[in-house]
Amino acid sequence: MTTTRFAPSPTGHIHVGNLRTALMNYLIARKAGGTFILRIDDTDPERSKEEYVDTIKEDLDWLGLHWDRLERQSDRLDRYADAADALRHTGRFYEAFETPIELDLKRKKQLNMGKPPVYDRAAMALSEDERQALRVERGQGVWRFKLNHARIEWTDGILGDVSIDAASVSDPVLIRQDGQVLYTLASVVDDTEMGVTDVVRGSDHVTNTATQIQIIEALGGNVPRFAHHSLLTGPQGEALSKRLGTLSLRDLREQGVAPIALLSLMARIGSSDPVELETDMGNLIEGFEPSKFGAAPTKFDVEDLFPLTARYLQGLDFAAVVDRVAEVGVPPAKAGAFWNVTRDNITTLADLDKWWDLMSNGADPLIDEEDAAFISEAMAMLPDAPFDESTWGVWTARVKEATGRKGRALFMPLRKALTGQSHGPDMGALMPLLQVVKARE
Ligand code: GLU
Repeated sequence: MTTTRFAPSPTGHIHVGNLRTALMNYLIARKAGGTFILRIDDTDPERSKEEYVDTIKEDLDWLGLHWDRLERQSDRLDRYADAADALRHTGRFYEAFETPIELDLKRKKQLNMGKPPVYDRAAMALSEDERQALRVERGQGVWRFKLNHARIEWTDGILGDVSIDAASVSDPVLIRQDGQVLYTLASVVDDTEMGVTDVVRGSDHVTNTATQIQIIEALGGNVPRFAHHSLLTGPQGEALSKRLGTLSLRDLREQGVAPIALLSLMARIGSSDPVELETDMGNLIEGFEPSKFGAAPTKFDVEDLFPLTARYLQGLDFAAVVDRVAEVGVPPAKAGAFWNVTRDNITTLADLDKWWDLMSNGADPLIDEEDAAFISEAMAMLPDAPFDESTWGVWTARVKEATGRKGRALFMPLRKALTGQSHGPDMGALMPLLQVVKARE
C-alpha cells in the first residue's frame, strides 16, 4: 500500500517550503488511497519544542491536510538503538574521535590539494587499544556509517535518473558523541519500519538520499521511491531561505489567505500545469503527478495568493460566510445584502471590516478641486438616510438634470465623495447599506 510521510522537525513554524513537501506527500497518498503519516522528527531535544508540534498540527488542520497516523521519533529511540546495533554487526559502523577542529583542518588540506573534502576514514585504521585510549582521553566517539564506494543510483520521481559517486561523500555520522541518534539513521529506520513507499522532499536532501539508500540496504529494508522537488525562490529568483521566516503558514493565515488558494498554488507551481483556483481538493488529488514538476528552482510570489483568495471568496454563497459577516457586526437583516455588495470588492475577509466601517461610519470623502462645487450642489439634493434601492438612480437623475453632467463625470465624483475611493461595489446596491455620508457634513 502506498504510504508517504511528512516529517517536519519541530524547531520552528512551518512555512511555504515545508508546505510544498507536505502537500506533495499528502496528494500522493490520497491519490493512491494510501496512508499519509505525520512524523515529528524530534530527536534533537534542545531544538525541538512542544509548541511547534502543536502549531504544525494546527497549520495542517487549517489546510485540511489530515494525517492518518502520527509518529514521533522521540518515542522510538530504542528502535534506533537496535538499528545501530544491527549496523555494528554488519561491520560497516565505526567509531571516530576527531574533533570538529581536526576535521576542519583535514578538509582545508584536502581542498588545498584540489581534492574533494571527504572524510579520510582515519578512524578505521585505529587498533582497539588506540580506540580505548582515545575514549579515555576524549570520551565517546561519533559513529559513522561506512559507505560502499560504488555509484548510488535511483530513478527519481522528479529528477529522473540520478547517479552519485559514494566516494565523493563522507561516511555519514549517525550517532553523535553524546549518543544522540541523528536524522539520517532515525529517518531510515522509520521509513523502513513504517512501510513508507514514497518519499518526496526538497532537493537539498539528494545527498542524504544517496547515503540513506545504502543504509536501508545494509539494514535489509526496502528502498522507497524518491522524488526531490526543487527549492523555492522569491519572484526574482532570489534565495528564499532568509525570508521563509516571514512566510510561515501562520502568517499567511493571519493575512487572510484562504487555505484552498494556498493549496491551489502550491500544488501547481513548478509544474507544467497552469496555476488556477481549484476549489475541489478531489481535483487537486486527481491531477497531481510528480513527473510534471521540473528540477529548476521554483519561483514563489506571496502576492499570487491574494487574487486566488479573492476569486475563491467571490464564489462563496452567503451561507458559507454567515458567521464571519455576523462577527463584523452587520445586523442579520442586512447581512445577505452586505455580502452580495462586498464579495466582489474584497481581497480577504478582513476587508469586510473596512466595508462595514465605511457603511456605518461614513467614508472620508475624496473630492477633486474641480468637483467641489458640483459635489456640494449634489449633496444638497441627496435625501436623508436611510436610503433604499432606488436612491442612487433617482438622485443621480436629479443631479444630472440640475448640473448637466453625465456619464463618468457625473458618477465618479459622486462615488468618490460617498466612498472615498474610485473603485467599489455597484452604487445602487451600496446605498441601502450606507448609513452616514460625511461629504454632506
Ligand atoms: N526532518 C527532516 C527535515 O525537515 C525530514 C526530511 C525527510 O523528509 O526525510 O528536513
